[in-house]
Amino acid sequence: MHCPFCSAVDTRVIDSRLTSEGVQVRRRRECIDCKDRFTTYETAELSLPRVIKSDGSREPFREEKLRAGMLRALEKRPVSSDKIEASINQVKKELQSHGEREIPSRKIGETLMGELQRLDHVAYVRFASVYRRFEDIDEFRQVVESLEEQPD
Ligand SMILES: [Zn+2]
Repeated sequence: MHCPFCSAVDTRVIDSRLTSEGVQVRRRRECIDCKDRFTTYETAELSLPRVIKSDGSREPFREEKLRAGMLRALEKRPVSSDKIEASINQVKKELQSHGEREIPSRKIGETLMGELQRLDHVAYVRFASVYRRFEDIDEFRQVVESLEEQPD
């Protein structure tokens, strides 16, 4: 892996460990040239269904959208990053278990809501209040919008 600081082609791994849920490997690396250190995270890449948006258009499943929605709902809540990553993996696992090639964005929202309910009730209410179209703060409407945004 190239160094992100000086682009040297050689870096070495100085530490490697599993995250607590065992779904991700965290590696500390050091550049051979500039000696700067950085961290990489390794997860298994799973093939996920395409997303059918509410207007009927399709887009690839994007994990970063899922993560952004989740992090927004969990803002300032006492939930560790490891738990959040484990939940994201759980959502992906569930989406795959349907065995469909395409899945409505609504279904992703519901699956995410199930995980939030388990993780943190405040985050769940934040997300659900937007998702079920209750009157609520605009900030939380963005959670769902971020799941449905057009690709760049
Ligand atoms: Zn370097």
